[in-house]
Amino acid sequence: MIRALGAFSGGLDGMLACRVLMDQDIYVEAVTFDSPFFDVRAGKKAAAVLDIPWRAVDFTADIVALLFDPPSGFGKNMNPCIDCHATMFKRLKEIARKEEFDFIFSGEVVGQRPMSQNRGSLNRVKNLSSTGDILLRPLSAKILDPTPMETAGLVDRERLLDLNGRGRTRQLEMAREYGFSRIPSPGGGCLLTDPGYSNRLGVLKEAGLLSGDNARMIRFGRMFLLNGAVGLVGRSAAENDKMLHADTGIQLAIRDIPGPLGILLGEKTENNITLLNAIMVSYTRAQEQVTVISNQGEEFTAERIDPSERDKYSITL
Ligand code: SF4
Repeated sequence: MIRALGAFSGGLDGMLACRVLMDQDIYVEAVTFDSPFFDVRAGKKAAAVLDIPWRAVDFTADIVALLFDPPSGFGKNMNPCIDCHATMFKRLKEIARKEEFDFIFSGEVVGQRPMSQNRGSLNRVKNLSSTGDILLRPLSAKILDPTPMETAGLVDRERLLDLNGRGRTRQLEMAREYGFSRIPSPGGGCLLTDPGYSNRLGVLKEAGLLSGDNARMIRFGRMFLLNGAVGLVGRSAAENDKMLHADTGIQLAIRDIPGPLGILLGEKTENNITLLNAIMVSYTRAQEQVTVISNQGEEFTAERIDPSERDKYSITL
């Protein structure tokens, strides 16, 4: 049996790419790349709809490394899509070789995304990742050069598709024909394409604090740029709760009165702790000094900072 391994975000195009191959009795497995910027749960759910084996592969180190200096540059925000795709395909090829898959595939469609999925970008990704011998794009295969898998007869080119452009009509029709119980959005969902998050990430990078754990952490809270450090202050009880499970930085909590949780990333100086504590207190009703405790067992006395002073440190838009 022919075996194929797909890069799979959980979007509709990836699901269709799988089904097009499954229609040819090809055995299909799916991989979703896990990182602070991408939630793999969509991939897991979509694979369950297709009833195919699925796994998450940790991609954090790869994508964080690319954020420092992506050879092909960034998209509109901090999304290094071309190099990201190329690195994913490289990883996929390694797995495919090790586990004896015959080829790898993706749900990319020519012309669907102006920057990362035009014909030139698809070729660039293929060349950068050295996967020309093994990579198939079933949804646009008929308008791309034949791949070795097609010429060798592993895949019937005639039964692949010729999708081109941003329209979604054919994809939606196919989803209905296949009877998918849920129709996800066309991929997406990557935080690196979000302008607000990218802005935060840029600040983290400028502060010399870019790491996978810190990138995960800055999804939460109001953000403040301190001296050689970044402070995060929870905006709601739910957010405080999520921040409580942080495995990076120093956690600061106000004792005895309700208030936000704080996280200090970076240099733990007395100044930075005092400043972050004061910022946290400014979001409470306290008019007097309060006690703040850290997850390192320390206790601090803190008092509020004036909001106009506080806002000088704020980088939350
Ligand atoms: S949208 Fe995000 S996950 Fe997708 S290729 Fe671009 S950077 Fe990578």
